[in-house]
Amino acid sequence: MYMDSGTQHDPGYERRKAEFKRQYIKKRRRQRLIHNSIVIAIRLMIVVIVLLIGFKLIDRFLLPFTETTKSQEVNKSEAKWKMEPVEQTTEKPKSVPMISEKQMELTDIVNSDNPLENGYQPNVEECYHGIFVDQRMAADLKSLVEAGTAEGLELYVVSAYRTEERQTQLYEAKADEEAAGTSEHQSGLAVDLSSGKNMEVGEAFAETATYAWLKEHCAEFGFILRYPSNKEEVTKHTFEPNHFRYVGKEAAQSIMEEKKTLEEYNQ
Ligand SMILES: [Zn+2]
Repeated sequence: MYMDSGTQHDPGYERRKAEFKRQYIKKRRRQRLIHNSIVIAIRLMIVVIVLLIGFKLIDRFLLPFTETTKSQEVNKSEAKWKMEPVEQTTEKPKSVPMISEKQMELTDIVNSDNPLENGYQPNVEECYHGIFVDQRMAADLKSLVEAGTAEGLELYVVSAYRTEERQTQLYEAKADEEAAGTSEHQSGLAVDLSSGKNMEVGEAFAETATYAWLKEHCAEFGFILRYPSNKEEVTKHTFEPNHFRYVGKEAAQSIMEEKKTLEEYNQ
């Protein structure tokens, strides 16, 4: 039988070749799929990271206009302050207000007869983590707290600057007697100070050594006891031993030494 030398007809060859090709294409497709999945995953990760950084920046940017803090970030040994639970809020304002061009005077009165100008925005700075105050009083507040602490007293800033939004919330929740625009807290020039594990308030705080020390020394740092017990008819405000107002050292010394109120000082 004649047979072409050099060639050997293998009927299975074409089939195997086609099978190999099919397998190869399948393999390539699988490899491409894995490759594309990895690329997509990496891109997604980049998007998530960018978003996280963005949110963090927004958080940082809006923080000065909220009165909120994360308690786990409180460094107790470094800063002697704590947030009052009622002050905690996770809400953030929709927009960042502009700092008012004309900042109020340190001795200006803020009450229901003398409300802050509509939309007044003090130039605040973060004095302690989550505690914002008018930048003119920040250094003196720190000195006051340091001096009290050096005396072995427990001294905490429990409330400071409040946004209009926050003041409205407190007023509506009946947690504060002042409506928006009529609280000194909104001016950034007032702080509520306290001591002890329970953050003594009112009469209980008035009996502490911290209160006694504050009454005697607050003026040295530019602060006054804003609503004394014997001046309720002048201030039209109930005795508030926790509430201190920054008026600057000169005015503070005159007010505290002469046992006056801010109203009487301004007359
Ligand atoms: Zn207060």
